[in-house]
Amino acid sequence: MIVPMTAVVIVGGGPGGYDAALVAAQMGAEVTLVDSDGIGGSAVLTDCVPSKALLAVAESATQVRQSGLLGITGAAEAIGVDLAAVNARIRGLAGSQSADTAERCVREGVRLLAGRGRLDGPGAVVAELASGGTQRIEADAILLATGARPRTLDSALPDGQRILTWEQVYELAEVPERLVVVGSGVTGAEFACAYQALGSEVVLVSSREHVLPGEDPEAAQVLEDVFERRGMTVLRRTRATAATRTGDSVVVTLADGSTVTGSHCLMAVGSVPNTEDLGLPGAGVRTTDAGHVEVDRVSRTSARGVYAAGDCTGVLLLASVAAMQGRIAMWHALGGAVAPLDLRTVSSNVFTDPEIATVGYTQADVDAGRVRADVVTLPLATNARAKMQGISDGFVKVICRRGTRIVIGGVVVAPKASELIFGLSLAVEQRMTVDEVAATFTVYPSLTGSLAEAARRLRAFD
Ligand SMILES: Cc1cc2nc3c(=O)[nH]c(=O)nc-3n(C[C@H](O)[C@H](O)[C@H](O)COP(=O)(O)OP(=O)(O)OC[C@H]3O[C@@H](n4cnc5c(N)ncnc54)[C@H](O)[C@@H]3O)c2cc1C
Repeated sequence: MIVPMTAVVIVGGGPGGYDAALVAAQMGAEVTLVDSDGIGGSAVLTDCVPSKALLAVAESATQVRQSGLLGITGAAEAIGVDLAAVNARIRGLAGSQSADTAERCVREGVRLLAGRGRLDGPGAVVAELASGGTQRIEADAILLATGARPRTLDSALPDGQRILTWEQVYELAEVPERLVVVGSGVTGAEFACAYQALGSEVVLVSSREHVLPGEDPEAAQVLEDVFERRGMTVLRRTRATAATRTGDSVVVTLADGSTVTGSHCLMAVGSVPNTEDLGLPGAGVRTTDAGHVEVDRVSRTSARGVYAAGDCTGVLLLASVAAMQGRIAMWHALGGAVAPLDLRTVSSNVFTDPEIATVGYTQADVDAGRVRADVVTLPLATNARAKMQGISDGFVKVICRRGTRIVIGGVVVAPKASELIFGLSLAVEQRMTVDEVAATFTVYPSLTGSLAEAARRLRAFD
C-alpha cells in the first residue's frame, strides 16, 4: 500500500516558518513555503541579524575607546566609524544568511514560493506570486508564521531618512549626530547603546521609571547607570507624542508639551502582528484584540489543521521561541512525539553593553510570591577575571527553589552574558540542584566562577 504524503503549507519564511519547513521535510511531508520578503524573515533581514551585527561593531568600538584604562595609548583617540561601510557589511551578511537558509530549504526538499499567502478556508492557501499570477495549494496542515512589523504612530510617521524604524537604519551613510530613541524596551535600549558607542549623542525617551521595564530591575539599573555615565540622556516617565521633520533635524514632542531635537529619531514603540489579509475569519482562525493569532501550547489555532508560530502569535517575541513553536506544530501535525511549549526554560538576552541574559523564574516572581525561592546576587567587581579584564559593571544572580534547592532561574549581566547564561540554562532545564552546580569545576579565573560561587552561597540557605 502506498501511504499518501502529508501536504504541508507554511506561510512566512522567518524562524517560525523555515525551521518548521525543515522539520516537516525531514519527517517526509511534501512542504511548500510561501514567503513575501525573503527566507529568514525579519529575523534575518531586518531584526536580529542586522541589529546584532551592528552591536558587534559597537562592542568593538567601546573596547577600543576604553583601552586607555588598561594602559593602551593612542587607540581611543584615533577611533572613527565608517557607517556606510558598516551598514554595507551588515546588509551583505543578512542577505547571504537569507540565501544560505533558502538554499538549505531547497536542498532538503522544501518547495519555495516567492509571494504572499493567505488562507482559502482551513484547508488551502492561495499564493499571490511575486512573478505574477496566483497558485492555490491544498494542504493537510497549514502553519501561519507571518511575523510582525514595527508599530508606527500617525503623528511620527517614518520617512526612512531622519525619522526611522529599526528596519530602516541600515541605509544610514553617517553616524547620526544626535539620535532621539523613542522607547526603552529591548529594541530601544539596544539601538541607544549601539549608536552611543558609534559616536552619536543619544537621548533615550522612556515612558517608564526605568529602561527595560520587562527585565530584572537590578540589571536594568546597571545598564541605566552605564548609559548615563557614558553621557546618554535618559528621559524617564516621558511619553513622546509626535516627531516632525524640520529640515535637517527632527523635533520630538513630549506629552508635557516640551520638545527634544535631534538630527535623527528612531521609533522603537513595539510591533504589530502581520495578520490582516490572511483570510483568518473565513477559515475560522480566532485572533486576540491586538490581532495576534490565538494558539495553544502545541501551536494549534481555533481552526482544525491550521497552526501558527512566532511573532504573529505574540506568545514571546523571540526567534528561538518562534522556531520552537514552528517545530512543535510540525511534530504535532505529523504525528511525532511532542512536548508542549514551556516558556519557563527560555533563555533570552539583551545585547547591550553590558549584556543582560536571563533564564527561568525572575526576581519579580520571587518578590510577588509566585514561587518560594532564595536568591543570591554576586557583583562581578569581586571576580578576579573581571578585574583583569577591566569589567566593573555587572553581576550574576542565581535563584533556587526553597526546600528542593533546584535552580529555577538566573540573570547574568556581563560582557557576553548571552554565552555565560548557558550553564544556568542547563541547570534550569535539567533541574539541577545548587549542590550539583556548586560541585562543578569552573575554570580559574573565569566569570563563570561567580555562577558556581553563587550556587555555593545558596547551599548555606535553609
Ligand atoms: C530589532 C530587533 C532585534 C531582535 N533581536 C532578536 C534576537 O537577538 N534574538 C531573538 O531571539 N529575537 C530577536 N528579535 C525578535 C525576532 O526577530 C522575532 O521574534 C522573530 O523574527 C520572529 O520570527 P517569525 O518567524 O515569527 O517572523 P519573521 O522573522 O518576522 O518572519 C516572517 C516572514 O513572513 C513574511 N510574511 C508576512 N506575511 C506574509 C504573507 N502573507 N505571505 C508570505 N509571507 C509573509 C514576512 O515578510 C517575513 O519574511 C528581535 C526583534 C527586533 C525587532
